[in-house]
Amino acid sequence: MKIKDFRVTPLFCRFKQPYFWAQGRHDGAHIALVHIETEEGILGLGETPATMMPIHPILSFLNTVKPLLIGQSICDISHLIREIYTRSFGIETASHSSPRIANQIFAGVELALWDALGKTVNLPVYDILGGKIHKEISYFGFIQGDTVDELSSHAKELSDDGFEVLYLKVGRGEDFDFQATKAVRESIGGKRLRVDPNEAWSSLQAENMIRKLSQFDLEMVEQPISALSGVNGLKSLKTNCSIPLAADQSVFTPEEAETMCSSGAVNLVTVGLHETGGILGFKKVASIAEVFGIDICLHGVFETGITTCASLQAASTIPNLDDGNQIMFQLLEEDLVLKPDLRPNSGKIKVLTGPGLGFELNEDAVKRATDAYKNLPR
Ligand SMILES: [Mg+2]
Repeated sequence: MKIKDFRVTPLFCRFKQPYFWAQGRHDGAHIALVHIETEEGILGLGETPATMMPIHPILSFLNTVKPLLIGQSICDISHLIREIYTRSFGIETASHSSPRIANQIFAGVELALWDALGKTVNLPVYDILGGKIHKEISYFGFIQGDTVDELSSHAKELSDDGFEVLYLKVGRGEDFDFQATKAVRESIGGKRLRVDPNEAWSSLQAENMIRKLSQFDLEMVEQPISALSGVNGLKSLKTNCSIPLAADQSVFTPEEAETMCSSGAVNLVTVGLHETGGILGFKKVASIAEVFGIDICLHGVFETGITTCASLQAASTIPNLDDGNQIMFQLLEEDLVLKPDLRPNSGKIKVLTGPGLGFELNEDAVKRATDAYKNLPR
């Protein structure tokens, strides 16, 4: 059960249509695909999406990991991840100078280790973690489009497909946000609606916008102001607005989860495997939120179905899971997961029962995404 090889492949996975949010427009996802092979020939797969930082430093750091992994047991995930973090960002101790950065970079390694371990013992990862609590996970309908008309018509489509929670990106200008939220509310009837300005608003703007948008019966506003405003920024906003708030970019680490959850500033924490460093970090943050009676909502970055599969494994084991979770693979022109079919049925995906993370890779799609990365303009 020892590791024989470690490789990283950079990919570019195009979106079906341009993605619009408060930070502008994006045409695809940069992905570092991580392969870990054992002496028995078992292949573990994971991915590190380059959403919150560029892919080149991610590739540089990932390429330093190989000597730390070769010859080590696939069972030693906690120890290996600790070693990788310490060698990369610590100074001969286990302390990390850059936990947020390290989490984003090395989550793909952690996921590949879990996939390899699960396949080695022929069990889904949730069984190794102590068993699943949920048999299926519920997701929100993620509204896409550039114009108000496009957003409204996609919202109707998602609502008709059976999604009970709809999710709209705002932070694209006061008038646009108002018109888009109004149109979406009209097209989805009484279904639950959440909005996410992605830190775009100042405290003053947030207070005014939340007041204006509250007439559209919003269930939650996600990270309305910059994470740099800290817990106090969200806490002060919450005092003056009636709509529940969620923390997203404010929480990556267990320490941040404890500070945010104990403050009373938010009713929900939106966080995923790539902010928390993988499955173990995600479970740690979820446990902290649970102590404060706060649910965890799976967060997505520009990722593929590999992360969806890993998230299903992890999320199925936590009791305090929200029912409006996020998936992103559906935005891709072509996903990297060949089987099983991940498309939600009435907003729900069944937890995967195959060994490891539970999926089969689409090798042809990987080849095409490898070529797409090589052909990107430099
Ligand atoms: Mg968000």
